[in-house]
Amino acid sequence: MSSLPRPRIAAAFLAAILATIPAAAQGTAAAGPAASVELSALAGGWKASLDYDPLTGTGRILRGADLVRFKVGLALYSLGTGEALRAPAVMDAGTGLYMPEPAAAAIGEWFSRRDAERASRFSVAAILIDPGHGGKDPGAIGEHGAGAARLRIAEKDVVLSIALDLKARLSALWPEKAILITRTGDTYPSLDERVEMGNEVELAPNEAIIYVSIHANASFNKGASGYEVWYLNPDYRRTVVDAEAVPGVDAGVLPILNAMLEEEYTTESVFLATAILEGLGTALGPASASRGVRPEEWFVVRNARMPSVLVEVGFVTNQEEARLLADPGHLRKLGEGIYNGIVAFVDHFERRKAAPSP
Ligand SMILES: [Zn+2]
Repeated sequence: MSSLPRPRIAAAFLAAILATIPAAAQGTAAAGPAASVELSALAGGWKASLDYDPLTGTGRILRGADLVRFKVGLALYSLGTGEALRAPAVMDAGTGLYMPEPAAAAIGEWFSRRDAERASRFSVAAILIDPGHGGKDPGAIGEHGAGAARLRIAEKDVVLSIALDLKARLSALWPEKAILITRTGDTYPSLDERVEMGNEVELAPNEAIIYVSIHANASFNKGASGYEVWYLNPDYRRTVVDAEAVPGVDAGVLPILNAMLEEEYTTESVFLATAILEGLGTALGPASASRGVRPEEWFVVRNARMPSVLVEVGFVTNQEEARLLADPGHLRKLGEGIYNGIVAFVDHFERRKAAPSP
């Protein structure tokens, strides 16, 4: 074993991080000792981060917005939004993970290709705003006080007002983008119809759509108050990749690709949720409290094939907050806050996608 020559890797940046795998650890004896590269050093060379879960044998290499998913012993990688790469599998040698040179070269080429794609313009072409409930479905109801001070507000009215304001702001800023809204009046599109509106938008390869659902909260605890932003629960496994989309890949692999692709959406969704939460914090100041960013399996979010969030603007069941939610000035601040968050997200998204990764 010690007499074997050290294999050589073509790429210059790999020169210092060469490693060999004992033939016994390679799993394939026939071809002899193929060159492999220690994975954390390889990721470092790519300026990428490496996560690995030894319990499941799965890992991810994240470089900017580009995600590569792998599973030890599986000769299949997922690149970005569900692109499949057949290449020799990552191996766990006990002392570390090793990636065979052909896989490293193919992934390195893919990263370069992604950089080239970014050099051409990337944009958020459409934003779908979804005010919750409507028509026969009032959503949460808040009833407070008595006599002249009596207040009754319905979630469907609160969220429609905010959504229309948000749509007007976004349309004024970006006349070239499609700013869509699922309802403009007191009607009730089904949940399927709402999601379909987004999925039906025709997008060029370098274009994305984001989905923002707006709701108001209710609680048996009358003291509960504040706003929060939800994104898709990463544990939820949905069918995003269909069989036709990945020719030549057997059905047993599709659930893995689905999980991988979903994670790409989750990354963007968490980012969008955080930007909106910060936008609301700036716009509202101390008027309402932030309850943070949370994962959830909302129907409307999990069936949307796009970065998706759900904003809860406050509790109609809290007397003080209900009075705020009945105040047009407060609703405008909520619209402004969500708007600022979306603008921050889109600016970052388009700038990041337009510039080469660091
Ligand atoms: Zn709701």
